[in-house]
Amino acid sequence: MKNILILLMALTACQTQPNTKPALDKLATEYVKLGLEIGQQDADFVDAYYGPDSLKPEVVEYEAFPKDEFLEKIISLQNSFEGYISSEKDSINIKRANYISAQLNAYAERVRIVGGETSDFDVESMALFGVEAPHYDTAHFEKAIEKLEVFLHGEGTLQERFQNLASRFVIPVEKLDTVMKAAIAEARKRTHEHYPIPENENFSLEFVNDKAWSGYNWYQGNFTSLIQINTDFPISIERVIDVGSHESYPGHHVFNMLLEENLYNKQGLIETSIYPLFSPQSLIAEGSANYGIDVAFPGTDKITFAKEVLLPLAGLDTTGITKYFNALELVGELNYAGNEVARGVLNGTMTDREGIDYLIKYGFYSPEKAKQRIAFTKKYRSYVINYNYGKDLVKNYIESKGGTADNPQKRWELFGELLSNQVLPVDLK
Ligand SMILES: [Zn+2]
Repeated sequence: MKNILILLMALTACQTQPNTKPALDKLATEYVKLGLEIGQQDADFVDAYYGPDSLKPEVVEYEAFPKDEFLEKIISLQNSFEGYISSEKDSINIKRANYISAQLNAYAERVRIVGGETSDFDVESMALFGVEAPHYDTAHFEKAIEKLEVFLHGEGTLQERFQNLASRFVIPVEKLDTVMKAAIAEARKRTHEHYPIPENENFSLEFVNDKAWSGYNWYQGNFTSLIQINTDFPISIERVIDVGSHESYPGHHVFNMLLEENLYNKQGLIETSIYPLFSPQSLIAEGSANYGIDVAFPGTDKITFAKEVLLPLAGLDTTGITKYFNALELVGELNYAGNEVARGVLNGTMTDREGIDYLIKYGFYSPEKAKQRIAFTKKYRSYVINYNYGKDLVKNYIESKGGTADNPQKRWELFGELLSNQVLPVDLK
């Protein structure tokens, strides 16, 4: 009887409050349509769209990128969201509206950039991705290089010593497909043990050339991904594991699938169907994809898997593989050098040449890779912080909540929650 009473009270409460979700759905639909419209004029704007065709705008040809027209539309829609939020009582709806509003903020910044109006690197990353990455001086990188120097002591320059070690673990081109598919299969198996992944999910793997990036996941909707790997440079063992996890399981492929299933299919959140590349969603995407490698292969699992499965499959000797992965950990400490170069080159305080030299000296890049990195930086700009700072934010968030290496169950659980909800970078802090 008491239960019925509570139920009745709850029903009454529902009836007295107007249902405001349809109004929010309508605004969310406008957000999707506007994103698709901008995407017609900026080829990198929309990373994925799997919503209804009816939302796609008619093709309009402009003489120049219509920055002001787009900004006007974005501001007007932002005002509508603000109006909605100020009068809304339901915390779930407010959270959803805030999420879309942050994404719209990124729309505006990207439109300004494409329209030729750029801001300071940190201002840009705050507007696009909701965070400003930490700054590091050369002393920070010098300290890490000293550690590497001690670890890889011997003849020749440090770069040469590292390259000698690394060259042992380059996958022969004719074995790439087999070895990569084995890495993906293992990461997939490990992910399947923790998440109910849709039966009909699948991906295809392609090798490409002449791209600014080294790998890309093009999500097609309906639990399908096209994974492209750039073979302009030799591919080493760690990249293979990276592709298996970062691009695939539990990285981009799984993130997109979980969003599609949990938010789009089950809750009908239309905004999920569009993934604007230059937006806070990308910080979560890249950060979780990078951290996903540790989720799938915690501790020394990566080394064991490389030693027992991948290297034999590639026909490579396993001698020195532990040393190589440990050296990579130390090289990883130089990762933020890429952000410093991006900040310098884009703010105009560093020339391209200085950027290349900095990457070689403090980031441990080869001259060819440093050049590719500058090209990547110019195309993707402050997006570069999503990989390292994004990973650190995700890692700290998951591990501070108990998802540490010695509690893998909890780690998978927290990670799955992160990949299945509308989370903003600020929520990770
Ligand atoms: Zn990625």
